[in-house]
Parts: sequence; C-alpha cells; structure tokens
Amino acid sequence: MLRTSQRTLPQAITLALVMILFATHPAHGSVTLDDTSTTIHITPTQLMNGSPCLITVTLPNRALSVTGNWQAHRFSFFSNSDRRTWFALAGVDVELNPGNYPLTIEVELKDGTHQTLHQQLTIETAPYLQVPLTVPDKFVQPDPKALKQIAADKIVKDKAFASSASRPQWTGNFLPPLRLAPESDSFGNQRLFNGKVASVHRGLDYHAKLHTPVAAINSGRVVLARPLYFEGGCIVIDHGLGLMSVYMHLSKIEVAVGRRVRRGQIIALSGASGRATGPHLHLGVRWQGSYLDPAKLFEIQMPPQK
Ligand SMILES: [Zn+2]
Repeated sequence: MLRTSQRTLPQAITLALVMILFATHPAHGSVTLDDTSTTIHITPTQLMNGSPCLITVTLPNRALSVTGNWQAHRFSFFSNSDRRTWFALAGVDVELNPGNYPLTIEVELKDGTHQTLHQQLTIETAPYLQVPLTVPDKFVQPDPKALKQIAADKIVKDKAFASSASRPQWTGNFLPPLRLAPESDSFGNQRLFNGKVASVHRGLDYHAKLHTPVAAINSGRVVLARPLYFEGGCIVIDHGLGLMSVYMHLSKIEVAVGRRVRRGQIIALSGASGRATGPHLHLGVRWQGSYLDPAKLFEIQMPPQK
C-alpha cells in the first residue's frame, strides 16, 4: 500500500488518508497506487529474490531531491527535466529471504517541505535449481599461494566496488553482452562444486565459444580490468547510482580502468579462464552489493534521459 505523510498536514488528516489507503489497496502492493496525484510504480510488478526493478515516483509538484530506503539500502532517484517524475533502478539480492520489505521514499519539495511515502513490497521465492558441477580441485581447496592471491583479489574488487557515479551513466535499455550466444537459466542456481562447496550462482552464463566478442551491456566507466583467481579475465563497468556489470572468464581484455565505454561497445573476448567448467561468459549485475538477474534487467524498459 502507498501511505503518504506530509509534515505540514495535521496529523488527523494524515491518519485518515492512511486509513483510506489501507482500506482500498491490498497488502500485496507492487502495482501503481494512487494518492491523488502521487504515484509509485514498480516494474516488474512481481518481485522475487534476484529481481532488478525500476521504481518510478510521480509527484504533483516539482521536487529538489528524492531518496529511497529499502531492505537497508539507501539510494537516490534521478529525474528528467520536469523534476516531477523520478526514477531509481534498484533490486533484490538473489540470496535475500523472501517476505515483506517496506519501501520508504523521502521527497524534498521546492518549498522546503518534506513528504514521506511508504509502500509495502512483497518479495516472492524464485524457483532456482540445485546443480552439481565439477571443476579442478584447486578451485575447491585452494593452496596457500592461491589463498594469498584470492585475498589480494578481494582488495582489488572491494576498491572497484567502493564508489559509483552519482548520476546514471547508462542510456536506454540494457542489452545482452552477446548477440548470438544463447543464455542459460543458470542465475540463482545453488551449485555444489565437486560435491563439496555450495554457492549461489550470482550471474548469468552464456554458452560462448572461445574468443567471442563481448559487448558492454550499457554505457559506463571501467573500474576493474584484469585477471583474478576465480573470475579469470574480469571487467567491471560502473553504470552509476550503485549499478555495475561484471564480465568473467575472459580470454582478452580490450579496455583499461578509467575508460568510458558506450552501450554495445566490444570490451573483451570470451574465454574459459578462472573457475570455469568450459568456455563461457559469466555476466553479473550488481546493485549496492546485491546480485540481480541480468536477464530480468534486459526486460525493463528504461526511461528516456536528458
Ligand atoms: Zn557463471
């Protein structure tokens, strides 16, 4: 449900409004809801663990800023020129426990007043599979030298993930990194490596022959481009507002850290480096540390940006 409270309104009116909205909207609230002319719209309407989502807030008046709070994530919305329609790209980590997670949106209006919107969002259980996989033992029980490299890799990755541009760097819809290679249904699978180690697959694998050109899924800035122990040849692109894409097991990296890339630009050739069962491309989509299903991101119609 969408609840709204404006600090300049008498409390009684606010309470009455809350009661009306409770009465007219079901608790399962991932649809467009209307409080006079304030709306919150969530795409897709059905959220599961691993879902990316576009949150659109439409306001009756122009706002200075809009921020969101959801599942302990704090995030900024961005607006087109009218400053009445605001967007945020957010998501639900693949390993989040399904349940109800309240979304709070803070609106700072031009006249200096603040408005708080509330919406209860239900996260459903995604039907992910359990899959046994076989990889060389060195990836299941790394030796001391490998453990040292894994620890060094973590520092490199933490640094790359530490900051993100404060404005969206992407333009238009996100596109698959490979045009012809089929994607698998591997996102979210619980994997048993050599029957021993279980981990959740936090990305999407594409069946790609060795040396297949890999394209950036959208525009952004390269924040990591180097070989790592598990990931093999790895690139991370920052798309802004906490959203990043991660490309793994590459055989050749064709961009350097700091470089700006355009959507669809070839950034690498696919390979089988790192902890890979064979040649393929692993694509990860990360939002503020949460891993989201790339295939679902490609389905979201992005707003035009100015
Ligand atoms: Zn993978």
